[in-house]
Amino acid sequence: MLDKIVRHIGAHRNELRTLSDALWNHPETAYHEHFASKTAAELLEKCGYAVTIPCYGIETAFRCEYAQGSGGPVFAIASEYDALPEIGHGCGHNLICTAGIAAFIAAAELMKEEGISGKVILLGTPAEEGGGGKVKMAAAGCLDGVDAAIMAHPSGINCTDAGSTANCGLEVIFHGKAAHAAAAPEKGINALDAVNLLFTGVNTFRQYIPEHARIHGVILDGGEVPNVIPDYARCRFYLRSADESWCPVLEKRFRDIVKGAELMTGATAEIAPFRPAYRARKPNTPMNMDYAESMRAQGVEVEIPEKAGRGSSDFGNFSQVVPGIHPYFAVSDTSVPVPHSKEFAACAKEDYGFDNALRAAAALAHEALRFMADPAFREAVKADFARR
Ligand SMILES: [Zn+2]
Ligand SMILES: [Zn+2]
Repeated sequence: MLDKIVRHIGAHRNELRTLSDALWNHPETAYHEHFASKTAAELLEKCGYAVTIPCYGIETAFRCEYAQGSGGPVFAIASEYDALPEIGHGCGHNLICTAGIAAFIAAAELMKEEGISGKVILLGTPAEEGGGGKVKMAAAGCLDGVDAAIMAHPSGINCTDAGSTANCGLEVIFHGKAAHAAAAPEKGINALDAVNLLFTGVNTFRQYIPEHARIHGVILDGGEVPNVIPDYARCRFYLRSADESWCPVLEKRFRDIVKGAELMTGATAEIAPFRPAYRARKPNTPMNMDYAESMRAQGVEVEIPEKAGRGSSDFGNFSQVVPGIHPYFAVSDTSVPVPHSKEFAACAKEDYGFDNALRAAAALAHEALRFMADPAFREAVKADFARR
């Protein structure tokens, strides 16, 4: 089956390359992916598949499906296509989109050719970078009736999915009182001091959190001129943990530290999430094994990481609802570029990354077809999901 999938993807190679390059040349940030979603939809339509765009209440989300028979298994493939501010496709989502479309087309064509019953769905999922497109789409019902989901992400290495951290983004605004910093400092309340004390408290707390947790922040507003005591200061933090039971612990202590900063300075704080929370990613062993086998059969050695990654993805929210994996494929064989860098963005346009994205696409299509055609595999996937 894998050889047939590879042949089908190869037949679309030129148009897939055109799509990947077009997205790379035209990077769009979260929820602004109008060109990307439209270009992706046009390719699907040209291949004979009707696309619903927009959908789930999001302008740049799309959905496409192919079904054969009735009541069969339903398998979803996710395509991301948002870019980063300043560095364009520094996370290589142009390759994710391309791989998702390649996998969908190959799976649909082989369902027809081999008479496999079921449904394959391609979900165009915008705004992974901080916007939580999948969080909103899942809440709007995009996984209703879906039995399993998958996507593949570019990386410095080839590896299976070992999970990722849940991630809660909190914004803290401190309100103080402005005053001349030299002539009448006793009349002021310094909001920036409260931010500094919050950072000091968090830095201390960080010594006592487990290795799988992370807290990190930035200051966005902290006053304008040195001779005015800042009456307004604003910062944002990410609170992450691979073990979701730690998330409320981190948030409780974080809120206590904010209270401490209020008490120490007299400033008052507002705390609010600034983006949807991402859940920890729940991997799936049978799906990981199938992915690794398909990549190895195409000459790609795949690592099996021992511990969850420390980054986060909104695919975590998908993986908590249905069985799913988010494995990684390398964009380079000569060095290990770090995602969210200019170097990584450059790799996301090179032949090596594109070729590997198509190998990953074949592995995704293989998962979809096996899930539909092999009841024992399907049961193993579901049992592993239930066990975790
Ligand atoms: Zn990223
Ligand atoms: Zn990414």
